[in-house]
Amino acid sequence: MIDRKTFLKQSAVVGAGLTLAGLKPMLGYSRNPGMKLITIMHTNDTHARIDPFPAGSGSLAGLGGAARRMALINKIRDKYPHNLLLDAGDTFQGTPYFNYYNGALDFKLMSMMGYDASTIGNHEFDNAVEGFVEVAPKAKFPFVSSNYDFIDAPEMAQFIREQLVLHVNGVKVGIFGLGVDFRNLVLPHLHKGVIYYDPVLVSEQMVRRLRTEQQCDLVICLSHIGYQYSDGRVSDVVVANEVDGIDLIIGGHTHTLLDEPVIIEKQGKEPTIISQVGHAGVVLGQIDFEFDRTNRLRRTWAANHRVDQTYDMV
Ligand SMILES: [Zn+2]
Repeated sequence: MIDRKTFLKQSAVVGAGLTLAGLKPMLGYSRNPGMKLITIMHTNDTHARIDPFPAGSGSLAGLGGAARRMALINKIRDKYPHNLLLDAGDTFQGTPYFNYYNGALDFKLMSMMGYDASTIGNHEFDNAVEGFVEVAPKAKFPFVSSNYDFIDAPEMAQFIREQLVLHVNGVKVGIFGLGVDFRNLVLPHLHKGVIYYDPVLVSEQMVRRLRTEQQCDLVICLSHIGYQYSDGRVSDVVVANEVDGIDLIIGGHTHTLLDEPVIIEKQGKEPTIISQVGHAGVVLGQIDFEFDRTNRLRRTWAANHRVDQTYDMV
């Protein structure tokens, strides 16, 4: 049994949207016979945190660590066999492991953990396009990025997918990715050949493609644009409000630890769920989606799992 440490919340489809329906234990994929459950596990901004935070790291001391994360993921996989493991970018930079291995070790470990996809964070350009290209072959999973145009960086483009369509438990899942504006974040010579486009416009295109043309049942955005800004800059909250048809935004960049996913309700439209789990791999997010026989989304559940000594392998 998975211990849901931080929160446990169920939401049910009522009318046009998902509404929170109080705390209920999640009993797993067998609870509603005939229904299809798919489980999304997610991280963001893991920032080369291979080992747990050392003593003296304040509230983060003793938390995180790649080995524990893997143990936890495997535990969840045992219970919820129809799952995806996704990341929202910024694997690079943060500990001496990055300075030494340039991200190769992180990509290797993420491949061992069985990540299905990640996206490109601003720190993925810290060693320039060439630096990413050098270690990208270690990633046995695709990078999904839809609003960066790699037209003049073909060496990087080979590792990037504009969209991804995966079949999980008979459900068609469409995934696209959003990267942050390079201005004031990534020096021009580091992202040479890569162009940023507006996340809202690109999201509308991607939803049209995935939802309408490809008939995906679930549309997920891996976003590294940030949760929300006071100056109104484009963010996950802005995208969720302005673009219809995204079921889930897995966010990153602002290192926001949402205690539970936020549900953006829209008049007469399906809602969008946003989740982001801090940084450094101290929390693993889990969101379960239940579909009926006609592949219509009926209910969701979510939980944040603290990555701590509980998952130490002996
Ligand atoms: Zn970050």
